Amino acid sequence: MTGSPPRLPGQQESPFSTQLMDRRSFVSGLATVAAFPASSLSALARTFPAAGEVHALVLGTAQDAGFPQIGCYTDRCNYGRELWAEGRPRFVSSIALIEPDAQRFYLVDATPDITHQIDLIDDDGFRRRAAERRPFDGIFLTHAHIGHYSGLDVLGNEGIGMAETPLFCTPRMAEFISSNQPWRFLVDQGRLVPTPIPFDTWHRLDDNLEVQLWKVPHRDEFADTVGFVFRGPSRTLLFLPDINGWHLWDKDAAEAVASVDVALLDASFWSMDEMPGRSMDDLPHPLILQTMDTFQSVVDDRLAEVVLTHINNSNPALDDGGPQQAEIARRGFTLAREGMRFEL
Ligand SMILES: [Zn+2]
Ligand SMILES: [Zn+2]
Repeated sequence: MTGSPPRLPGQQESPFSTQLMDRRSFVSGLATVAAFPASSLSALARTFPAAGEVHALVLGTAQDAGFPQIGCYTDRCNYGRELWAEGRPRFVSSIALIEPDAQRFYLVDATPDITHQIDLIDDDGFRRRAAERRPFDGIFLTHAHIGHYSGLDVLGNEGIGMAETPLFCTPRMAEFISSNQPWRFLVDQGRLVPTPIPFDTWHRLDDNLEVQLWKVPHRDEFADTVGFVFRGPSRTLLFLPDINGWHLWDKDAAEAVASVDVALLDASFWSMDEMPGRSMDDLPHPLILQTMDTFQSVVDDRLAEVVLTHINNSNPALDDGGPQQAEIARRGFTLAREGMRFEL
């Protein structure tokens, strides 16, 4: 690809958007994220599927409130600001599912960064569809925390004015969206069509893709929480950005992850050092160190590629070139970065 992709109709040019939409800067950014040892190079190579292949595209990797986070002026958050200024920001965790030949596009979680992060979908067909106000064939929501659904707010009249689009989620989440403003207004206007899917059964989306919902334990104040398993023509991918703890899951975590080809998992915190005064018992997420211990054998036996995402602004794994990224790579895990692609 050469040059910047075309802008959406009416979109203003700015130094930021011009930089941001040049995917080459993301790709070169990826190459400098860390000195990947040989064991991780094969994993990275698979992030560039051949043209035409159905794939998942990483649109964001940060915890709900983003990186940098509001009011945070630590060195780490200031580094997050530098990444934005350089045109290679970390956005809130999300992926897109892309079927290039069929020109179908799905969004998984609608984050506060939705406006900028969907620019990473550099397919001309997607931009044509966006101009026609039907960019997505469906939107999936894992749960009702702000980083995962508040991006829906720009799909109405004030924003893209999206045409009828299925909203795939659990029955409880569908009920929450349909009963609470301002989301209910999008449903009443026919823009979002809540399409609840039962747990643990395959649901066919189209010729190429199926999805399964796995319930996970999480702080369920408004609705419930799931991970999505997507099955494409060749591979399966689990997207599970939030869970209170692997040991609290009603599935055997290692077995579940070993049953897919790629797993994007909750990597909110590195260690308890980030949470002074808190105990493990009230921490609502697993630590990366625990996550790597839990899935080390899965990675060593090459049963699945484990990709760490949903990274909190306190997490030292955000420090490019730092010892935590080296440790992640040494143990054979992958740290998610915007622009990564996984064949499905
Ligand atoms: Zn979250
Ligand atoms: Zn959450």
